[in-house]
Amino acid sequence: MTDNNIKTLRLRRGKEESLDRFHPWVFSGALTSMPDDIDEGDLVYVETADGRRIGTGHFQIGSIAVRMLTFSDEAIDEAFYQRRLSEALRLRRALGLIRDDNNAFRLVHGEGDFLPGLVVDIYGPTAVVQAHSPGMHFARNIIARQLVELPDAGIRNVYYKSETTLPYKAHLDPQNDYIIGSAENDIAVENGLKFRIDWLRGQKTGFFVDQRDNRTLLQQYSSGRRVLNMFCYTGGFSVYSLRGGAASVTSVDSSAKAVSLTDANVALNFTDDTRHRSVAEDAFKFLDNMADNEYDLIILDPPAFAKHRSALRNALRGYQKLNARAFEKIASGGILFTFSCSQAVSKEQFRLAVFSAAAQTGRKVRILHQLTQPADHPINIYHPEGEYLKGLVLYVE
Ligand code: SAH
Repeated sequence: MTDNNIKTLRLRRGKEESLDRFHPWVFSGALTSMPDDIDEGDLVYVETADGRRIGTGHFQIGSIAVRMLTFSDEAIDEAFYQRRLSEALRLRRALGLIRDDNNAFRLVHGEGDFLPGLVVDIYGPTAVVQAHSPGMHFARNIIARQLVELPDAGIRNVYYKSETTLPYKAHLDPQNDYIIGSAENDIAVENGLKFRIDWLRGQKTGFFVDQRDNRTLLQQYSSGRRVLNMFCYTGGFSVYSLRGGAASVTSVDSSAKAVSLTDANVALNFTDDTRHRSVAEDAFKFLDNMADNEYDLIILDPPAFAKHRSALRNALRGYQKLNARAFEKIASGGILFTFSCSQAVSKEQFRLAVFSAAAQTGRKVRILHQLTQPADHPINIYHPEGEYLKGLVLYVE
């Protein structure tokens, strides 16, 4: 099928190899000349130097010039989004994530759901949509309509939140706002625990659903332990460890707003629980000032230290420094949950940074678990870059 309104971009000779293996990105250097009348967010056909059509994608200016939406001969219309979103929902159902006691999950994880540039998180009746590409920005109304029409998904409100995720150069000036519906119940449930989600003012879509499985594992290690949840944000790890029977939980974040979100979420689940306290302070300052042996379970879940490849060296140094502080102070027999959510940092690099931290302090350290992102953040096998969350659970003698 050919739509005459859709322009065709041609690859340089030999540049089709990764696309023939379904990698969804076309880098600008792989293309021959560009038509002048092409705009950011346009649908484009991509073809080889010999004129063989590879598929259809969204064009944008930048190093990634095209994000492929399909490698087959299907039109990118409303029915396309309906099929992709239904498929995404089918997977989440199969994962058992849609239950009375769990209504917070990621419905669309970009390339991992064959919708590059799109993220959709669900909090009960509300979908929070983030576009990372101009093409998805232009498709936002279709996407919103299809979200509320998904059978038995119960989505009534669609909040569009792309002010910080769209490329700045695109001058799209997106406004964060409801496309459909309005503010409704903002308390979501994750594995039976309640969380107030502030998608209007919170980071990302308001909550980090990607730590769900890791929080569940943490709960199992919490009984009787003195827990330090560093970089607590909304207090996800704190609430799970309280449920797991922690002796005490200290939540730390440099943002006073995050600390009050944590306090509110603890109170939602445990009334007047004196085991919990929270501190608004810089992580390094807190770790420097705390006594040795004060904690026997420490969680380090910092923001991405490397947002870009150029920041990689500093990021690795940051991870090493942070983890070394924890190794120095954690009680004997302690457990450290340590994470990196930087896409630019590989699993091996992160492990090496943590290894260097351990070696620097001379503690006896063993790896108990190697953690990653949960199944509602699937990794398209043709797009290994989609793997971003890395974690280690360590036993420190
Ligand atoms: N662990 C959280 C997510 C952490 S997001 C969860 O499970 O939901 C990262 C958090 O680190 C943010 O809340 C941010 O305010 C905080 N932060 C950033 N820099 C910090 C610093 N230097 N010291 C302490 N907290 C910091």
